[in-house]
Amino acid sequence: MDLHTWLSTRVDAIERLTETTNDPELVASSLRRCDADRRILARHNVDPEKAADRLWATACQGCGYYDTETGDPAAENINDCLELLDLAHAHGLNEAEIAALDRPEPPPVVYSTSARSIRERLAELVDQHLDAQVSVETPAFADSGVAVRLTARKISAVLHISEQDLDNL
Ligand SMILES: [Zn+2]
Repeated sequence: MDLHTWLSTRVDAIERLTETTNDPELVASSLRRCDADRRILARHNVDPEKAADRLWATACQGCGYYDTETGDPAAENINDCLELLDLAHAHGLNEAEIAALDRPEPPPVVYSTSARSIRERLAELVDQHLDAQVSVETPAFADSGVAVRLTARKISAVLHISEQDLDNL
């Protein structure tokens, strides 16, 4: 259970507990708090449409961008969302309990083992996003899938190459 799921379950439990009291003021106050928490949980969550996107699959969409130029999320993992961590504090979850929660993992990266196929795919991706024919020189260290991937990520920020395409490199 990750942080978001834990909090959602907790809010549901508090709402059920509220139904057992007879104090109308306490009931109204508690229900307002549950509603406010659910609004925060709705805003600070992963985007299910980005489940295949390695960079955004686990990121908090409510926290937005760390850097709009590179498109990097402010909270790469939903468990690191500061809003949810504050909510967790309000619900009595301590640091050890937070650390013990499941941490959502991005989808695995599929690396090509062939430098030639990486170079061809990268050139193909660039071609798809530019009208002009472009040849991509693979750097000397291109035998490393990571190095090529980093280069591709920099290009993708300019050309808007999707994470899915990057993952298929
Ligand atoms: Zn957030």
